[in-house]
Amino acid sequence: MPHANNVETRAMQIVQLLKETYPESHVTLKARNPFEVLVATILSAQSTDAQVNRVTQTLFRKYRNAESFATTDLHQLELDIFAVGYYRQKARYIQTTCQMLIQQFDGKVPRTMDELLSLHGVGRKTANIVLTRAFGIVEGIAVDTHVFRISRRLELTAGSTPEKVEQDLMKILPKQLWGIINQLFITFGRHICQARDPQCNICPIVSLCPYGQRQN
Ligand code: SF4
Repeated sequence: MPHANNVETRAMQIVQLLKETYPESHVTLKARNPFEVLVATILSAQSTDAQVNRVTQTLFRKYRNAESFATTDLHQLELDIFAVGYYRQKARYIQTTCQMLIQQFDGKVPRTMDELLSLHGVGRKTANIVLTRAFGIVEGIAVDTHVFRISRRLELTAGSTPEKVEQDLMKILPKQLWGIINQLFITFGRHICQARDPQCNICPIVSLCPYGQRQN
């Protein structure tokens, strides 16, 4: 049985152990400024960081600001980001978002959650990532596919939507940890707690995991 006696204590122990396991855990999505963080994060949905980095290496040389994305031919933009998958939807999101940046924010990426959420195609996950990585502002926890899956396996939440999982995690973890959860869980999810085949037999937090305990 997991030995922590309440979910807050267990969550803290889990994060502490993961921090010790992955002291070098770092962001692998490449971006040099807030605008590139925003575009790269939109591109990263359902794609790997490596795929996105390959595309943005040339994309950010061709399109240098919101104006260049906003005014390009949409079909050309689709071709330019084809390799990341879901390219039609992402091209539309990027172009509309850039048009909104020009119309409403003087071409700059806004620095508040509400303003970011007003952009087309930007949900709380993307907004949290942009705020944290671009501006060092922590307002919530970016819940991507790894955070969603792992938090539920660990029974830190029973939420069935990313929004509910984020709310639950924010209730049980202190705010100073919110900003590191996304990257820490991504690293852990890639190496150990994988979607199809979690490696419970070598997992450093198995004693804190109800799912892992049931495998024994
Ligand atoms: Fe994931 Fe298994 Fe570790 Fe639980 S014990 S966190 S399911 S790898």
